[in-house]
Amino acid sequence: MAEKEKDFQYVADRFADICILRYQVPGFDGLTLKQKSLIYCLSEAALSGRDILFDQNGKYNLLIRRILDTIVERFSGTRNEQFTHFLDYTRQIWFASGIYHHYSSDKILPQFSKNYFIELVYRTDWSDFPLQPTESIHELIEALIPVIFDPEILPVKVSQDTSGDIVKNSAVNFYDDVTQREVEEYYEKLKNPDDKRPPSYGLNSKITKKEGRIIEKTWQINGMYHKAIEQIAFWLQEAIKYAENHKQKHIIRTLISFYQSADLREFDRYNILWLDENEGRVDFINGFIENYSDPLGMKGTWEGLVNFVDEEATRRTKIISAHAQWFENNSPVDDRFKKEKVTGVSAKAVLAVQLGGDCYPHTPIGINLPNPEWIRERYGSKSVTLDNIMDAHHEAEIESGVAEEFSLDEQEVQLLKEHGALANKLHVDLHECLGHGSGKTLPNVSVRTLKNYYAPLEETRADLFALYFIGDKKMAELGLVPSFDVVKAQYMSYIRNGLMIQLWRIKPGRQIEQAHMRNRQLIAGWCYEKGHSEKIIELIKKNGKTYFKINDYPSLRKLFGQLLNEVQRIKSEGDYEAGKRLVENYGVQVDRQLHSEVLDRMGKLDVRPFTGFINPLIEAIKDGDRIIDVKLNFETDYDSQMMYYGKKYSFPDIK
Ligand code: ZN
Repeated sequence: MAEKEKDFQYVADRFADICILRYQVPGFDGLTLKQKSLIYCLSEAALSGRDILFDQNGKYNLLIRRILDTIVERFSGTRNEQFTHFLDYTRQIWFASGIYHHYSSDKILPQFSKNYFIELVYRTDWSDFPLQPTESIHELIEALIPVIFDPEILPVKVSQDTSGDIVKNSAVNFYDDVTQREVEEYYEKLKNPDDKRPPSYGLNSKITKKEGRIIEKTWQINGMYHKAIEQIAFWLQEAIKYAENHKQKHIIRTLISFYQSADLREFDRYNILWLDENEGRVDFINGFIENYSDPLGMKGTWEGLVNFVDEEATRRTKIISAHAQWFENNSPVDDRFKKEKVTGVSAKAVLAVQLGGDCYPHTPIGINLPNPEWIRERYGSKSVTLDNIMDAHHEAEIESGVAEEFSLDEQEVQLLKEHGALANKLHVDLHECLGHGSGKTLPNVSVRTLKNYYAPLEETRADLFALYFIGDKKMAELGLVPSFDVVKAQYMSYIRNGLMIQLWRIKPGRQIEQAHMRNRQLIAGWCYEKGHSEKIIELIKKNGKTYFKINDYPSLRKLFGQLLNEVQRIKSEGDYEAGKRLVENYGVQVDRQLHSEVLDRMGKLDVRPFTGFINPLIEAIKDGDRIIDVKLNFETDYDSQMMYYGKKYSFPDIK
């Protein structure tokens, strides 16, 4: 990418366990004014839902954030150690869009004292702070102090402990005054088993009680989150003026109509239209999308993303998706589990230009949507790889010293630095665009039988598909893998991450919970064990440090194929017991000694386990009402961006 400047400052900030990066947007200046204007309007829509996500993540989040914002804005005392802790806490709350850690879901506990907090409150001017007529700021703070400081009160955002009531025990703001059983019964009644096009029940509402009866408060215009959604719809309406084609206009109109009606079937119509639009350069995601934050997996957190196609890089994903059937036919799984006809695989490499809601500041690197299973089966899915986000990750990693720390020699380091970026992108392309869509479930088998092991097994399957095929000579023939060194770089980083580096994200004494982490350790650990006698992957101790060296790349690839075959069988047959064994034996337990070694080695580098991004500021230059140019400004920092968003995209009806 020629337009990329060499001295771009990727790292914007570091605090707690988080590193904040900037991303570049090469090619933006080459877009037409119409495309840039479209991006501008969609970006305003993507930012306008920020408060919705805060409120979804916990019912005190917005109030707490507004109090923190006000203190930060008006603080004029000495920046002593307590204030530094206060600021770091505030930064974490911004990052997590609430008081719960974005990854562990545990409450983030302040490192400053209650007394210091009260002192800050007393020193701040609250005269224009929006309060209820009868309440005072001090009463409000009294009430919030346990929520902020007490680890026992509302301790986790999403409870996974199925021995208790996961609805009652989750602090996430999707349910109020109802039990898990009441919610389950409520939705069970709505479902029609004969419906071949079932809507995503519960996706856009909060469940609560009124006069003893269960009611759904839908998130829509003239409903819950009215002001924010009205603002989103306003900017979507503006965006229609600059749409690139009729399909885009139709898509945006349908989305606005969904925000007006809250009709989930309208949302599905929108999804199907969105899937079918691939001619425009600009694309977006806007709505209640992912359900990871709901203990029952129904409610969608609000997210926004604006991107445009990276034409050069999309050549890569187009070639891959055009050969989807070849990959399916040649995959190392039993023929009974292969799809006779792979349909609707569309994939593109894009450049993110605005991240919002649940995509910000913590950002995915690849997205595959829509989520409803029946739409995916009938119409396929659209998959995007966020190339500029991946580039920023790669650049920051190169500077971090991690490659040097975990490599045996300079040759390994060079391999990773030179080929790591491409290797990673190809992995994400194969994982998102082919891996998840490959294979079929046998008739009368439901993947629901795999229960809580479904997610890690599904990620395992997609990763193995990518690992197996990146090393296939077909990829070289297609011109996608210029040398086998790309394959080596991918295998090397995958194995050392799965066996070691990722343990860095786990607290001492804990085991692995997160689906992607389970899947990576499962694959790396299984292959290490199966190839042990032939030393396919060798554990080497040098100067008291552990290294994993891959001695035989082609044999490792065969192991990936074998495991893929087994995991596909488990999914196709719904074999719960075998799936459980794989995950529990290889994906969950942590080697205590290795864990503390990793924590120790990583602790000596100036790196953080989690990464997020700040957006460029998108400025529209206007002549009257007419946009005459749109510019990107990268010169902002994390604190300023958060304070700016807090002021500009805050809607008082969300409390
Ligand atoms: Zn995946």
